[in-house]
Amino acid sequence: MGKTREFDVLVIGGGVVGSALCHFLERYTNISSIGLIEKGKELGEVNSSPDSNSQTVHFGDIETNYGLEKAKHVKNAGDMIVSYLDRYDSDSSLHRKTYKLLLGVGDNEVALLEKRYEDFKATYPKLRKLYRDDIAKLEPNIVKDRDPNENIVALYSDDGYAVDYKKLADSFVGNFLNSNKRTELFFETKVSKIYKKDSLTIAETNNGSFSAKVVVVTSGPYSLYFAHKMDIGKDLAILPVAGSFYKSKNLLNGKVYTVQIDGIPFAAIHGDPNVNDPTETRFGPTAKMLPLFERHRYNTFFDFITSAIVSIKGIFACLKIILQMHFFWFAIENVLYDFPIIGKLLFMKNIKKIVPSARLKDISYGKNLGGVRPQVVDLNTGKIFLGEIKLFGDKIIFNVTPSPGATNCLKNASGDVVKVVEMLGEGFTFNKELFDKEFKS
Ligand SMILES: Cc1cc2nc3c(=O)[nH]c(=O)nc-3n(C[C@H](O)[C@H](O)[C@H](O)COP(=O)(O)OP(=O)(O)OC[C@H]3O[C@@H](n4cnc5c(N)ncnc54)[C@H](O)[C@@H]3O)c2cc1C
Repeated sequence: MGKTREFDVLVIGGGVVGSALCHFLERYTNISSIGLIEKGKELGEVNSSPDSNSQTVHFGDIETNYGLEKAKHVKNAGDMIVSYLDRYDSDSSLHRKTYKLLLGVGDNEVALLEKRYEDFKATYPKLRKLYRDDIAKLEPNIVKDRDPNENIVALYSDDGYAVDYKKLADSFVGNFLNSNKRTELFFETKVSKIYKKDSLTIAETNNGSFSAKVVVVTSGPYSLYFAHKMDIGKDLAILPVAGSFYKSKNLLNGKVYTVQIDGIPFAAIHGDPNVNDPTETRFGPTAKMLPLFERHRYNTFFDFITSAIVSIKGIFACLKIILQMHFFWFAIENVLYDFPIIGKLLFMKNIKKIVPSARLKDISYGKNLGGVRPQVVDLNTGKIFLGEIKLFGDKIIFNVTPSPGATNCLKNASGDVVKVVEMLGEGFTFNKELFDKEFKS
């Protein structure tokens, strides 16, 4: 047995959420030793990878799955990302500014968007309403070949941001203004067990043991997996919901969102220019249940089958979800989207809603694109939680982060950093003045 490495704080999981926390711990506290443990070779290779997600900073204005109250919360999180980008990414190496549209098609959706505009305009003063001719100036393909009698409207904002969240994670741990870097990174270090020993928390890994006064687990679905091993959050389970994408070239110029399908808790299919190649638009993500904790990593199947969703209670909860939300056909259709030929044929209707002139040859399936949303389910009520979940144990925090978890990374870190300092106790401080100056001005 090698010697145990000791830290004040250990962060387990180096996606954008864990990296954001390390940035805040370094910049706004006096904590002298911070360890970040990541099982991959680099930061942000799982859901934070640009291949896994839609690369969007959500603000809540054009996402019809958010009502006004939830939208305000999301806006606050999105504004924090923008503050960071303004300060550290003046050459746009992490992000690309774009505009965004929420497209309403048909009388019902047009009425819904007219109302949304009235309800949201005070909170989002930059939101504008566009009709057919103005939409055509920005996005000619939305109007081309569309039935002239079909009613359309769009809510428009020039506050669209596409972000490479993997690069953002790299920037969080590499880009500190204070030169005495206090975070030590451990790659290819996979945590197998977390337990308490006296007042410390121990993480066992393939790379030796680590101990810390406070631990924050930011390992996506594995956060709940480890919480369960410590008898925390036993009423909750992970329902992995994969999202796939189709790709096209030169169909759209900006982000184009569509209206939410009633009763379905995931964002409706949207078109987003790839942050690293804006001539490519990705349409998606789809939403299909998948027995994997991480996409395309088939060994995670074994962790899935031993998790709480694969139990009598878990299976009942899933059935309840499917029945509650008229989910059944939606679920079947989303499974089919990943099939060759039939998937593309079925998916075309989503693209044609946005680009009526699109042809089959214009799109291709995004092989190896798409991640898995770790949706949290309440095993007792069969309720699916729509956003992130945070659980607390004795000097340990667990973050489970489905969408919009990447947008929320700094907002989440701003809560965790205060909690970590509080858990560490005497002698540890959070520099609220500096934080407020940088994020609230
Ligand atoms: C299809 C799709 C589209 C999305 N679109 C958006 C979007 O447009 N905007 C948005 O804000 N959000 C979006 N999201 C959500 C967003 O991608 C995630 O919320 C975010 O990336 C979560 O970051 P994370 O750091 O918690 O997780 P991850 O990036 O998955 O990081 C978790 C890390 O933990 C590590 N880990 C796991 N287990 C261990 C272990 N045992 N030991 C050591 N390390 C471990 C993993 O290797 C991984 O690097 C989308 C998600 C999906 C699936």
